Amino acid sequence: MTKIFNDPADFADEALAGFCDLHSGLVRQVPGGAVRRHRPEQPKVAVLAGGGSGHYPAFAGLIGAGLADGAVVGNIFTSPSAQQAYSVAKSADSGAGVVFTYGNYAGDVLNFGMASERLAAEGIAVENVLVTDDIASAPPSESAKRRGIAGDFTVFKIMGAAAEAGAELADVVRLGRKANSLTRTIGSAFHGCTFPGADAPLFTLKDKQMGLGLGIHGEPGLFDTELPPAKELGQELVARLLAETPHGAGNRIAVILNGLGSTKHEELFVLWLTVAPLLRAAGYTLVMPEVGELVTSLDMSGVSLTITWLDEELEPLWTAPAETPAYRRGNAALLTGGQLAEEAFDGGPVAAEFAATLDSRNYAASCADALEAARKALHDAESHLGDMDAVAGDGDHGRGMVRGIDAGTAAAAKALADGAGAGDMLAAAGDAWADKAGGTSGVLWGAGLRAFGESLGNDEAPEPAELAAAVTAFAARITDLGKAEIGDKTMVDALLPFAETFSKRTSEGVLPDVAWAEAAAAATSAAQATASLRPLKGRARPLAEKSVGTADPGATSLAMIFTVMGPHLVSAGKVAA
Ligand code: ADP
Ligand code: MG
Repeated sequence: MTKIFNDPADFADEALAGFCDLHSGLVRQVPGGAVRRHRPEQPKVAVLAGGGSGHYPAFAGLIGAGLADGAVVGNIFTSPSAQQAYSVAKSADSGAGVVFTYGNYAGDVLNFGMASERLAAEGIAVENVLVTDDIASAPPSESAKRRGIAGDFTVFKIMGAAAEAGAELADVVRLGRKANSLTRTIGSAFHGCTFPGADAPLFTLKDKQMGLGLGIHGEPGLFDTELPPAKELGQELVARLLAETPHGAGNRIAVILNGLGSTKHEELFVLWLTVAPLLRAAGYTLVMPEVGELVTSLDMSGVSLTITWLDEELEPLWTAPAETPAYRRGNAALLTGGQLAEEAFDGGPVAAEFAATLDSRNYAASCADALEAARKALHDAESHLGDMDAVAGDGDHGRGMVRGIDAGTAAAAKALADGAGAGDMLAAAGDAWADKAGGTSGVLWGAGLRAFGESLGNDEAPEPAELAAAVTAFAARITDLGKAEIGDKTMVDALLPFAETFSKRTSEGVLPDVAWAEAAAAATSAAQATASLRPLKGRARPLAEKSVGTADPGATSLAMIFTVMGPHLVSAGKVAA
């Protein structure tokens, strides 16, 4: 159990703040996470690790010379937002580009991907390296679908050392991908982990049982078996990894025997006593093996074994010095000649300056009213949407939408007061929504609103065709990012009928308020019709059968929001009848 906390909702933020205070000589907290305290003397590639909290020392504990330049830190087991990734990258960039590196999880891929688009649009060179080491999470034929667990550490270490040695962005990425392709992990859990404030673990195992193939987010093992003696456990882990030896691999390997959070070092040493001789007997030289906690899962009890098959290029990077709060190897001062500059980064996003016409600012005021109407509707529907999501999902849809719209309306009001036009105001609302909402729907709504705003621009109030184009841009962004199609039982089932009806009817010359009402009615009935479907995307997919008979929560909230926003969006400027 996690015993030390104040408000459980503040746990991740407070843990990061305490960590940054303690290690203030090495790290500096910035919006979205933390970066190295010292600016590099020469431009160097910034290696930014990331993901949710709850995995210490991953990811903030690995910031420092020879390893990460910064960490993007999300809530417990939750992807950080695109805004967080963007702002950490802005703080860490020293002119040679940035690379985000993280385990392969849908939320992280979406958010780091979106941050990358924004950075690239500003001319910052940016790449992503995904870690896919967990052999239990997909068969070898689908290795790209595998999730990232303790192998994160080897891949980050190798990229960090390469960047420290002055490698260019493309080379750091190449080496990171090569390390990932030569890394395999298998884990085993003895007891589930418990969220701060929760009274039960995320999963339980019967006494004297273990789950083989655990994840690092409380995902239980693939199958449960009787807890064997340490010797047999070691044999099992080694055998499973060696069965996946990469083609043409050499005989020098990096090895990590990793504790998941509440497994003692002494227990790991006992296991090592089986693992190391078996690997040596298989003809391997163990290069700088690590036994300890490198990627944890809150207070989970369990272990994982990672092997990275080294070659002449990877080995010196694996053994290179590093100095971070949680990990020290060799003499890191040699890396920089001991010449770390004292000056701190002063990066980070600058305050927005808005340029907009009066027409656009007036239309922005109507858009703010539309958001306010959505805010009221979502507050009223919060528990209903939560109940719908609890049927086959995780029950957070109402809460997430309320968090998103509250942040979105607040950001919109601020932008409006600062003189933003409709485009900038909606983009700010979208960014704030995505930053605060959490969940799949939050990312999609935030990105959709930003696209809606970008399409409207800040020069004039929209004509009907331009409003239709903005609705289409909203829909395109959501389908591009989420890849859902009609019939997958997602918000897209309500969104596309809306966008199609509105575009078609306005192009036929129907007045925008009438066209909007027809489109909203189409979205509402399409949302209701999702009740008969089985979800093919999102968190509800594994429990698809349970969902039959209940409409999709995301489609329901979307139809509701578009219905109440309409009167404000079509009654101002050039779209007014
Ligand atoms: P989470 O599923 O992460 O808990 P929410 O509960 O807030 O997020 O939102 C769930 C809704 O998100 C679903 O009802 C569905 O409408 C929508 N959704 C899930 N995956 C996708 C996707 N790939 N594309 C579009 N919408 C999606
Ligand atoms: Mg949910």
